[in-house]
Amino acid sequence: WSEETIAVVTGANRGIGFEIARQLAGHGLTVILTSRDTSVGIEAAKVLQEGGFNVDVHQLDVLDGESISAFVEWIKEKYGGIDILVNNAGVNYNLGSDNSVEFARQVIDTNYYGTKNMIKAMIPLMRPSAAGARIVNVSSRLGKLNGRRNRIQDAALREELMDLETLSEELIDRTLSTFRQQVDDDTWQSGGWPQTFTDYSLSKLAVNAYTRLVAKELSDRQEGEKIYINCYCPGWVKTAMTGWAGNISTEHGADTGVWLALLPDEAVTGKFFAERREINF
Ligand code: NDP
Repeated sequence: WSEETIAVVTGANRGIGFEIARQLAGHGLTVILTSRDTSVGIEAAKVLQEGGFNVDVHQLDVLDGESISAFVEWIKEKYGGIDILVNNAGVNYNLGSDNSVEFARQVIDTNYYGTKNMIKAMIPLMRPSAAGARIVNVSSRLGKLNGRRNRIQDAALREELMDLETLSEELIDRTLSTFRQQVDDDTWQSGGWPQTFTDYSLSKLAVNAYTRLVAKELSDRQEGEKIYINCYCPGWVKTAMTGWAGNISTEHGADTGVWLALLPDEAVTGKFFAERREINF
């Protein structure tokens, strides 16, 4: 890896995203630290730049089409393309044992649609290389489709979402819109959805399903133009999101994401990881 390798990290002004940016830059890459708040991003980037790292910074709100377009144009002009995309930006409004859907729309929009927006916008900018370009989605074990305790109750729907023959973007989006409609109608409690952090769990379930779908769609790319996409759970990390109640550091939480972004040129794609090991969806 060299400074010629360009990595983009979303939501990199703090938490796990900042640490992923720091570790990637520590491997000698050029990292584009993105932040939805321009001045906060500049401050965060300064910390890394002062540490001697190759870090550039740009505003990026993954839910704002104009922000994404401006970012795409800037990348094209300044770098020509990118090699690595880490979709880290995310929100969660549930803490402790609460399970509120008050912010369900924002949670699903940011975590799933934001990730999807970025994947669609960045794939055309991903540069051909022998090692293959990489997309890493920061997800969560809470989004496990077949988790034993926290899962969608409808076994037929789980099967449809699991089977690559039936999995589609339309199915993922329809599942989420059914949930959102039930939130609006206040009937979601009996909808058979995951019981823990329901909106967040569904948003990450969707990220995981989309990861598998995109991996399939990209699988027929020719040698030299490959893009590998995987997702991972960082564990329960001490960040603002957990009210700093997590049991691991951001360094540890970032580790598997950085490892996936830099995997040697093995064709690992469409998989879910934690602690540098593959886990079941
Ligand atoms: P933080 O709350 O510390 O950081 C979240 C980051 O996402 C912030 O930079 C935030 O920006 C950014 N963000 C939120 N909305 C947007 C948006 N619309 N556009 C761009 N950026 C946005 O959380 P973590 O570091 O803990 O979380 C990072 C990722 O890890 C998330 O995807 C989360 O779901 C996932 N994760 C975290 C776990 C944990 O235990 N902490 C466990 C499992 C997964 P701003 O500062 O402007 O709000």
